[in-house]
Amino acid sequence: LDVIAAVEPGVAGAIRGELADQRASLKLIASENYASPAVLLTMGTWLSDKYAEGTIGHRFYAGCQNIDTVERLAADHAKALFGAEHAYVQPHSGIDANLVAFWGILAHRVESPALAAAGARHVNDLSEDDWETLRKALGDQRALGMSLDAGGHLTHGFRPNISGKMFHQRSYGTDPETGLLDYDALRATAREFRPLVLIAGYSAYPRRVDFARMREIADEVGAVLMVDMAHFAGLVAGKVFTGVHDPVPYAHVTTTTTHKSLRGPRGGLVLCQREYADSIDRGCPMVLGGPLGNVMAAKAVALAEARQVAFADYAHAVAANAVALAEGLVRRGVRLVTGGTDNHLVLLDVSTYGLTGRQAESALLDAGIVTNRNAIPRDPNGAWYTSGIRVGTPALTSRGFGPQEFDRVAELIVGVLTDTTPSSTSKAKYDLPPGTAGKTRAAAAELLTAHP
Ligand code: PLP
Repeated sequence: LDVIAAVEPGVAGAIRGELADQRASLKLIASENYASPAVLLTMGTWLSDKYAEGTIGHRFYAGCQNIDTVERLAADHAKALFGAEHAYVQPHSGIDANLVAFWGILAHRVESPALAAAGARHVNDLSEDDWETLRKALGDQRALGMSLDAGGHLTHGFRPNISGKMFHQRSYGTDPETGLLDYDALRATAREFRPLVLIAGYSAYPRRVDFARMREIADEVGAVLMVDMAHFAGLVAGKVFTGVHDPVPYAHVTTTTTHKSLRGPRGGLVLCQREYADSIDRGCPMVLGGPLGNVMAAKAVALAEARQVAFADYAHAVAANAVALAEGLVRRGVRLVTGGTDNHLVLLDVSTYGLTGRQAESALLDAGIVTNRNAIPRDPNGAWYTSGIRVGTPALTSRGFGPQEFDRVAELIVGVLTDTTPSSTSKAKYDLPPGTAGKTRAAAAELLTAHP
């Protein structure tokens, strides 16, 4: 840090500040974790300096042998860990991984047949008329993904994201009574809409998905099944999700981030069945810039960690802790979306406390509990203020928290929600007595000190 401080003390200060914040608060954001020292150190290395557009052994630059080594290691670990036929580890983030997947699917399902029909090997060989026809066909495809308020992600075909601009989009949701995925309604929508891509996966759905059923629906309408397992990849890696709950054997293409429950560096990767490999490998330079050698190396380290027995223990603890947290909340009167969890996250409906998600999120932060507000199904407060709070167990489980500690966390959350009074004029303002905030911070510090 002294080396950094000598150049820009503000950055050194922010790094110190982040470390202090992470030490002093209960990190319950479901998409966050603590990467290991080995992963963090790997990112701060000279592998960052090298340009390496292209794929392993097939680069547009000279001297890429070390990048080839780390990219191959990361891909091999990913394939072995998830039992995948092919892995592409270059995406810089989850959004990038989804973009590579979408364009890889379009290349395989729309572009390649068009080239074959025109007797061309490359798009540059197409006549102007054939190229126009192909461009129109690429822009005329349909995608069906989980709705945002049911827990889907912005990249699953929604208008503010490029995916919603690329595809004609429809969404499927959850049963209004149970909050669970409604496969029959999904099947009916798929039959009528006939998407090219059926997207499964979520950011805020607290349950497992039956991917065999998803594949059946995709096959019935001739769609490609793409699963975005960004949130629960750690549970797949740790064999908590097996059989029909493991997406990799069922999806044509599976994407993930590497930094959430998988506990690696910030980044993404794409797994796919062999027939999609060539199209997916065109990610850079199709939609990605030059790969980040340092981050691919850190992915290799994290994936190697995830192949160790200790990681499976960790993943099972993440799921068991989520159950303890959910039960602790329900026992104390909190309404949970779907009534519980069988993954790593829990979604609280805070409207029963008269609060918006925004008010609850801020009050909890004042008390040293870091969460994020999240829309709940058919949320009357919309996506900005929301009526929900999403909490997850991956980070605190990495610190060694067990079911007992998570029950205490539930008690602290309920204490804050109960003592928070919403403003009558603003969906953002609230009053939390300083005594409650202070007491909760002290209790959080006690838990954190016991699990440094
Ligand atoms: N996919 C899902 C399901 C996510 O939850 C997220 C992020 O929260 C992403 C993709 C995007 O990941 P990133 O922020 O790395 O682009």
